[in-house]
Amino acid sequence: MATDLFNLSGKVAIVTGANTGIGQGIAVALAQAGADVVAVGRSSMDETQAQIEALGRRCYPLKADLSQAKVAGEVIAQARQAAGRVDILVNNAGIIRRADSIDFTEEDWDAVMDTNLKTVFFLCQAMARQLLADGHSGKIINIASLLSFQGGIRVPSYTASKSGMAGMTRTLANEWAAKGIAVNAIAPGYLATNNTDALRADETRSREILGRIPAGRWGVPSDIGGAAVFLASPASDYVHGTTIAVDGGWLGR
Ligand code: NDP
Repeated sequence: MATDLFNLSGKVAIVTGANTGIGQGIAVALAQAGADVVAVGRSSMDETQAQIEALGRRCYPLKADLSQAKVAGEVIAQARQAAGRVDILVNNAGIIRRADSIDFTEEDWDAVMDTNLKTVFFLCQAMARQLLADGHSGKIINIASLLSFQGGIRVPSYTASKSGMAGMTRTLANEWAAKGIAVNAIAPGYLATNNTDALRADETRSREILGRIPAGRWGVPSDIGGAAVFLASPASDYVHGTTIAVDGGWLGR
């Protein structure tokens, strides 16, 4: 039946950075589709937990600072222990540092690459190992960016991390598709979240961006939820290694 295509009942999704912004939007959308959620991050998950529980789904908050890749194995193991199983991993947590490339520091380079790419790789690896050990299929969704496809300005490490993520997603899909593990990515366009506070505060830049979005508005976190449900559900079983833009038409302009 068509409705079963998007049904996540009985599935458990791990969502990193689920306390706010896009991560929260995705966590709630997956819960609406029937999944229980392990909400991973360093801040309080109270708000997200309340929204998920109001939908009649379970939410397991899990504290973790993802700036260091060594926590990856522990995060997946603890999620599995708390929820009893894991089926879906959404690597959403990410940071951005802005500075002219001529002045960009090693610290800003490493901080972004570690959180946005290195930890994400090891979370993918730990999740794949868990799925293989448990003997069932799974879905991994990496939250990339328009800067997976385009060069940005004053964000060299962010652009490198998100382009790297799109490439890494293809490699993992090549290796794991036949093992029943689908790895894909979503590239959100310009969304109104903490991540873009600085951009939206700059009136000229903000107007410039808005003028280039064919949909005529900034995105909101729930705009990403539908793509996440698709990639988490049986509806996308033949989709592997791709990065889906959800950008109000930005890339086609
Ligand atoms: P937010 O800044 O609102 O959210 C970022 C999330 O990542 C927060 O939950 C944050 O937790 C978490 N996070 C950051 N560092 C760590 C860490 N060391 N350990 C644990 N959690 C951490 O931004 P968005 O919701 O916009 O961003 C979510 C993802 O979407 C990011 O990967 C971003 O790059 C991507 N994206 C965003 C776009 C946009 O226009 N907004 C466009 C394209 C991609 P905490 O609250 O504790 O800091």
